[in-house]
Amino acid sequence: MNPSRHEICVVGGGLAGASAALAFAQAGFDTVQIAAPSRTDGRSTALIGPSIRFLERLGVLPALEGRAQPMFAMRLVDDTGRLLRAATVEFRAAEIGLPYFGLNVLNADLLETLRVQGDVYSDRLLRIDEPVVSVDLDKDHATVVTESGRSIVCRLLVGSDGRNSVVRTAMQAPVRAWSYPQVALVLNFGHQKGHDGVSTEFHTVTGPFTQVPLPGHRSSLVWVETPENADRLKALPTERLSEEVERRLHSILGAVTVEDPVQSFPLSGASVGRLAARRCALVGEAAHVFPPIGAQGLNLGLRDVEALLACAMEHRDDPGGAGMLAAYEARRRTDVATRTAAVDLLNRSLLTGFLPVQALRAVGLGTLAAVPALRHALMREGVEPGAGFAGALGRVRTLLPGQRASG
Ligand SMILES: Cc1cc2nc3c(=O)[nH]c(=O)nc-3n(C[C@H](O)[C@H](O)[C@H](O)COP(=O)(O)OP(=O)(O)OC[C@H]3O[C@@H](n4cnc5c(N)ncnc54)[C@H](O)[C@@H]3O)c2cc1C
Repeated sequence: MNPSRHEICVVGGGLAGASAALAFAQAGFDTVQIAAPSRTDGRSTALIGPSIRFLERLGVLPALEGRAQPMFAMRLVDDTGRLLRAATVEFRAAEIGLPYFGLNVLNADLLETLRVQGDVYSDRLLRIDEPVVSVDLDKDHATVVTESGRSIVCRLLVGSDGRNSVVRTAMQAPVRAWSYPQVALVLNFGHQKGHDGVSTEFHTVTGPFTQVPLPGHRSSLVWVETPENADRLKALPTERLSEEVERRLHSILGAVTVEDPVQSFPLSGASVGRLAARRCALVGEAAHVFPPIGAQGLNLGLRDVEALLACAMEHRDDPGGAGMLAAYEARRRTDVATRTAAVDLLNRSLLTGFLPVQALRAVGLGTLAAVPALRHALMREGVEPGAGFAGALGRVRTLLPGQRASG
């Protein structure tokens, strides 16, 4: 069979792959997306500023109308029961002049809207629903072969094939992977009382227990537990599990009804030594994996896709060439490394039984509760990566002797 030739080949059909395929096709690139079938994703994603603007440019935001819940406030509650407990901290978007922090949307709804919008560009977006079984790279192009033997040649191969990426293996990127003694139970539930667009995160000794609002009297839950507890909870009849969720929420939303399915995700992390080389570029979990703390993973993945597209547009004559790949690596390296380290540190600080670290965390959250300027900087950093602390540092600098802004 003769190979088919395209400018861009996207491997992977998750949210990173679907947004990459749509973004490249919309920008006029001849694109093929190859994706192995995967299980239905019951998770939700809290999309923040840059992701929302990117999805708006992709034209998917109107289709999410009524399916995305604005998050007006976030509450952190220390539910560790430890000797040194942190103060409860509440962040309100209005405090920093924003209408909301982000939009919470079910992954399945987001994936569907990305695919439907991709159909608009079917003249330059071909989809093949089967796994890639081999990848061959050379200076001018990459060749992939699918399970049924189809061969595809492209200038740029986008690895959005998740944590066990075959594209990453082919480009020989060094990977450091680790695991945590934790499992995230993920479920959605209905509740008696309204949530008022507030997300509440309870910090427990086994990890965070985070309720995130969905439209109506409905929320999603990410419940981080030990593997043994996760197995036990998952095996409970729905009624018992609903009671347990209500108890852990201290009944702030009244009676709870857990929906099917209850999914579980063992927590792990991975840091990838190279994001682009030899006609390949990695995005999403092929490029970085970390625990679901602070709603960072997909938001980072969407920033990868946006940056990759921008680099390809700047090197329109040769997408996937050495210059374009170097530009992508330079643009993404710091953001990816900083978020990976920050989320790992936060997760380990929650797990530790070491008293000085507990004390530091308690003081840290106490300071956040008491010092509005710091709280505001953290909130800005959360919704606009790079804006919060850089902005705060800028303001501090203008107050230093000899640095005062004129006028
Ligand atoms: C419990 C939990 C909660 C989370 N909550 C948030 C949140 O609130 N906010 C946030 O930003 N992030 C969150 N994340 C992270 C986010 O879900 C992930 O970053 C995101 O789903 C990763 O998407 P992806 O497309 O990179 O990978 P995946 O969803 O893993 O997709 C990989 C795709 O590649 C395909 N594939 C694999 N191998 C091949 C092959 N050989 N050939 C072809 N296709 C292949 C698979 O079938 C799949 O379609 C959370 C993660 C977890 C675990």
